[in-house]
Amino acid sequence: MIIYGTKGKNVHIEDGEFFCPRCNTEQEYRHFAVKNYFTLYFIPIFPIGSGSNYIECCGCSQTWSPDILHFDPVAAMEKAVENYRRLAVLFLLDLGHCTSTTLNELKQALDEIFDVDVDKSEIANDVTLAQSAAPDIKKFFKTETAEFDGDGKQLLVQILKRCLEAEGYIPDLEQQRIVELGKVIGLKAKQVRAILDA
Ligand SMILES: [Zn+2]
Repeated sequence: MIIYGTKGKNVHIEDGEFFCPRCNTEQEYRHFAVKNYFTLYFIPIFPIGSGSNYIECCGCSQTWSPDILHFDPVAAMEKAVENYRRLAVLFLLDLGHCTSTTLNELKQALDEIFDVDVDKSEIANDVTLAQSAAPDIKKFFKTETAEFDGDGKQLLVQILKRCLEAEGYIPDLEQQRIVELGKVIGLKAKQVRAILDA
């Protein structure tokens, strides 16, 4: 009986430095290619298919797609902050609560949560942009949060709540509106209520 099989071999390609999101710092990496070999009696004879590649962090051993080498943490953070900023601005406009008080609170909230210093002019630009584009808020919320995970969606609700609270007690109608938008982005009414009541 002839014993055929396949076996994966990790081939070390190169080393370098990259930003590891898990370590949250620059780290050395090792780049491996995984090549699958056709084997005869457990001995690799020739490679099969194109195989795959991965990056291993020398700090935490987490493995990543090679795309991680193009990851820019500063740009990614700016994009994340921009997402929450635009959603909150549209929400405040839609509700008729886009005031200097709520917008100031939005800046404070974003600064604290993301450890950044949001430029007030950026928020002012968002207001102008949202006023001229006047997107449908439900569609906007649905598409712009499509890649948020559950925690991200709950964080958005916390930010909206915090902006409104800057004006005092949140009236029932506004609370109801947050619950509705929560449903639009895939949160349960119970989850949103829990945040509002916290
Ligand atoms: Zn790491």
